[in-house]
Amino acid sequence: MTELNRQITLLSRPAGRPCEANFRLVESPLPTPGQGQVLVRNHWLSLDPYMRGRMMDVRNYAPPVGIGEVMVGDTAGEVILSHHPDFRPGDRVVGALGWQRYGVAEGEALRKVDAERIPLSVHLGAAGMPGVTAYVGLTDLCAAKAGETVVVTAAAGAVGSVAGQLARLRGCTVVGVAGGAAKCRHVVEALGFHDCVDYKAPELRRRLKAALPNGVDCLFDNVGGEVLDALLGRLNPFSRVTLCGAISEVDNPSPHGVRRLLPLIVNRVRVQGFIVGDHRARWAAAIDELSGHVASGRIRCHETVAEGLAAAPAAFLDLLAGRSLGKQLVRLE
Ligand code: NDP
Repeated sequence: MTELNRQITLLSRPAGRPCEANFRLVESPLPTPGQGQVLVRNHWLSLDPYMRGRMMDVRNYAPPVGIGEVMVGDTAGEVILSHHPDFRPGDRVVGALGWQRYGVAEGEALRKVDAERIPLSVHLGAAGMPGVTAYVGLTDLCAAKAGETVVVTAAAGAVGSVAGQLARLRGCTVVGVAGGAAKCRHVVEALGFHDCVDYKAPELRRRLKAALPNGVDCLFDNVGGEVLDALLGRLNPFSRVTLCGAISEVDNPSPHGVRRLLPLIVNRVRVQGFIVGDHRARWAAAIDELSGHVASGRIRCHETVAEGLAAAPAAFLDLLAGRSLGKQLVRLE
């Protein structure tokens, strides 16, 4: 094959907010799969907030991307050449092949997916890692039950939109928190949450109180900072807080943080952080249920799509800044 691969590598680590100059688009020969390996042409690249952490050389739950290395990322694509008995050309697969057009992976690191039941891209969103995150956080950790009040922050995003819709399907009252009136409208009108509070408008605490007359039994938090701190004051006795992400702290040199711990003690609240990769045993059940909900229209998934690999850095910055709606993807040319 004479076709070249296109890749986006990490050129430099950000000092403060990341920018497009931290990335470089390069061309290289197509990789050749060895024994047990598979060559995949990626059709979709998923952009996710965790990539911001991988740009930094600091202690984290996973190692950083090295300077000059291809940026990490989940991809969905098509098998081109296989030296693994379980894969054949044309199979649709999801893997972590990174920000590139083609990639080689061990067969064991790829997951065959059904792109007939739901579109291939959804295997990176509502029926992929973000969806499983929502499922584990809501079902296993928050253990949300019918009749309870669930609050989900970053409610219009990839994880939050699924967490809230799942909670609604479980019979809960669901209140979202999102940035701006347009996102809040989307959360209520398109996703079916019962209410949504715009955290960017004034008097957040007063409006949270008004939207939560029965308090909060389960808080699925994606943002941390001031929004989390305000919500902790609305928790009911024996409520659960699932700490999924703290995106408000990522580029903030002096994050707001949690100001008062006493309400957590008085209300005997269980607070748990988690990383979805630690819950591999739950992935198959989660993906099966989520795929069914998407296929039947019970869970709606909105995608923001950037066109072409070269658009990935700008789309990633948009994701971090809240300029995307639903799942941020890149369609690879
Ligand atoms: P989203 O699609 O939700 O995109 C991120 C959203 O964060 C933006 O759209 C924006 O929404 C919001 N945001 C950005 N800055 C701020 C801020 N300063 N304060 C409040 N909100 C802000 O991303 P994902 O759904 O992919 O991820 C959501 C969270 O879940 C992230 O924190 C991520 O790190 C975490 N995560 C954790 C996993 C785990 O295993 N623990 C796995 C996957 C994701 P808005 O416009 O409403 O402000």
